[in-house]
Amino acid sequence: MPIRAFRFQLRPTPGTAHTLRRFAGSCRWVWNRAIGEQQRLRAAGEKFSGYAAMCRWLTAWRNDPDTAWLAETPVQAQQQTLKRLEASYRRFFEGQGGYPRFRGRGQDAGLRFPKASDCKLDAENQRIKPPKLGWMRMRQSQAVEGSVRNYTLTQARGRWFVSIQVEQPDVIPAAGLVPTLGIDFGVTLFAATTDGECVAPLNALKRQQKYLKRVQRSVSRKVKGSKNRRKAIDRLGRVHARIAAQRSDWLHKLTTRWANEHPVIAIEDLKVAAMSASAKGTATDPGKRVRQKAGLNRSILDQAWGEARRQLEYKTAARGGAVVPVDPAYTSQRCSACGHTARENRPTQARFECEACGHSENADLNAAKNVLAAGHAVWVARPEACGAEVRRARPVRGRHAAAMKQEPAEGSAAQAVVSAGIPVL
Ligand SMILES: [Zn+2]
Repeated sequence: MPIRAFRFQLRPTPGTAHTLRRFAGSCRWVWNRAIGEQQRLRAAGEKFSGYAAMCRWLTAWRNDPDTAWLAETPVQAQQQTLKRLEASYRRFFEGQGGYPRFRGRGQDAGLRFPKASDCKLDAENQRIKPPKLGWMRMRQSQAVEGSVRNYTLTQARGRWFVSIQVEQPDVIPAAGLVPTLGIDFGVTLFAATTDGECVAPLNALKRQQKYLKRVQRSVSRKVKGSKNRRKAIDRLGRVHARIAAQRSDWLHKLTTRWANEHPVIAIEDLKVAAMSASAKGTATDPGKRVRQKAGLNRSILDQAWGEARRQLEYKTAARGGAVVPVDPAYTSQRCSACGHTARENRPTQARFECEACGHSENADLNAAKNVLAAGHAVWVARPEACGAEVRRARPVRGRHAAAMKQEPAEGSAAQAVVSAGIPVL
């Protein structure tokens, strides 16, 4: 059963937000106090106390009149803090992490409620009620599908979020599906697809760079340690957060649409390390990605390609499809019409002109076609395709159904409507 998470922004009233901060603070107190106890035991030559023992300490602290305020916070969240602390210690004992650290103000890890029954979820009215708190509105951007396992409330840059983890039923891949979309990721274009779609990179950063610079300057002008500097830093944080949110939204919309339209998608199997190497130019593919080598955009693109793939993988899987990674070698130099492969086929970065057959096309669209063709070959050769036992997918609900049933139609890809990005040619 695949696990998925839905993350929504919460809209607590000022009073509720205050309570949330208090809860988070009490969990931080529990974390720090437990570390203190562990250190004391260690100094006395005693053994490490595990989760169950730490929970007994917690009960004692909640019952102690001096720290009775701890009992105002839901106990599940404090127990989860101890569970996390135990895990942190285990990593330390196994040499995989440092000794757990005390946490200061603003380093709260969030409130986790480990059971579905811990919170009331009212999806109809887009609200949620964690224990010992009132109803809170959430910006619920999509329906929560699946059975809820747990909730985590976190704070980031002054905003609260809820992450709802759910378990969803397996979708068995449909038989008879083949890749119907090939995607070539690039720099001048974020992506080119066999549907003829050219997606320009989101230059959210570029657009907001001026404003960002101004805010950064205003931070550096303020006196260190002053209240105004603190405020300017907060503002800078909000600008960064907004840029990140815009980028995330943009990518999600793109990958959701692709996954809705195509159950099986072929993409280049770009490994970050390999990409960095190929930037210098290799024997197989000289300098395909030279231009992207330098610059700020580079690392962002690396992340965006990896994230696009991750999203496509789980979104197609949820619809009974798959992502087919293909070897990126030669995809930029092979002619999608006749198969002739030569670096001379690329007179410029943007154009593809086949020496052999004269086929001429936007270079990225040509590459996307090669990716799709390679995807077909990989898909047909995979072990499951050869096996006798191929089960049918169970029916898929609602809007995905159309995409699932749709048989691949050769040629239809080329006439597909360009619904986003910049149409080229
Ligand atoms: Zn050709």
